[in-house]
Amino acid sequence: MNTPISFEFFPPKYENGKINLLNCITEFKKTNPEYMSVTFGAGGSTQSGTLDTVLEIQKQKITVAPHLSCVGSSKSEIKSILDEYKSNDINQIVALRGDLPSGNCDIGEMKNANDLVSFIRENFDDYFAIKVAAYPEAHPQAKNFYEDFKFFKQKVMAGADSAITQYFYNIDSYKYFIDDCAKNNIDIPIVPGIMPITNYVQLSRFSNMCGADIPRWISSRLESYGDDMASIVDFGIDVVSQLCQDLIDIQAPSLHFYSMNKVEPNLQIIKNISS
Ligand code: FAD
Repeated sequence: MNTPISFEFFPPKYENGKINLLNCITEFKKTNPEYMSVTFGAGGSTQSGTLDTVLEIQKQKITVAPHLSCVGSSKSEIKSILDEYKSNDINQIVALRGDLPSGNCDIGEMKNANDLVSFIRENFDDYFAIKVAAYPEAHPQAKNFYEDFKFFKQKVMAGADSAITQYFYNIDSYKYFIDDCAKNNIDIPIVPGIMPITNYVQLSRFSNMCGADIPRWISSRLESYGDDMASIVDFGIDVVSQLCQDLIDIQAPSLHFYSMNKVEPNLQIIKNISS
């Protein structure tokens, strides 16, 4: 397959999770990925877990892009994390705001991802290649799509080199987003984020939180499979493989797999689109 691919992991908490992750890295390495990325503070994962996982991937001679979210952190905390990455020769960052903590918490010195992108550029010049998040179906807290798009453009103007999208199952949302980028002179690569389907209950809960739409024709089929996990996985592989193929056909610059630290069904999808 000519289209580059990348994989995203979350830092494992327990020993068996670490063993599983090593297996994922080994298996995915065989597909010659462009890079692997590691989430930061997402879903309660520890921030030191990100560094440990990043160094483990780097040890295996694979390019790695740590995620970094600014919400709740001071500038000096963020700077020291970036210094640590630089001292380890890591030069790619996925720069995010992160999800706002509930309650009356201090949201930190940088309120949005564009502040973080500017901060990285001010302090590290062009050392880091910066990737940011993009939302073809709009971020769930946005007032409306174009308000959100205006803020996306701000991140690009602040110095982002590329973007990874929230996952979607309706390719038109991506096509329109790409058109909006062209109309607004945004010419960085917009890489589709790919979420495999393995568990309908989890997927619909997560999609509600992050504002990703599951088209009715997909959800009604998934719902009808009930506890028949094998059928859910088979159908999910078909749907997501077709989506990836369609994205390749419209020249998506690369595909970023939200691997969920699972070898399958990611590898099966990649096999399907490689033939
Ligand atoms: P922003 O770009 O700051 O946008 C957040 C909201 O604020 C949007 O509604 C936007 O419209 C609005 N906004 C943006 N800029 C401004 C501004 N200047 N003024 C006013 N409003 C503004 N979360 C984690 O915790 N850890 C991770 O590792 C992680 N990885 C992710 C990877 C990808 C590819 C994606 C798509 C998401 C990831 N997330 C992660 C989730 C992400 O942190 C959340 O979606 C978060 O709510 C928004 O982050 P952002 O960087 O998109 O924020």
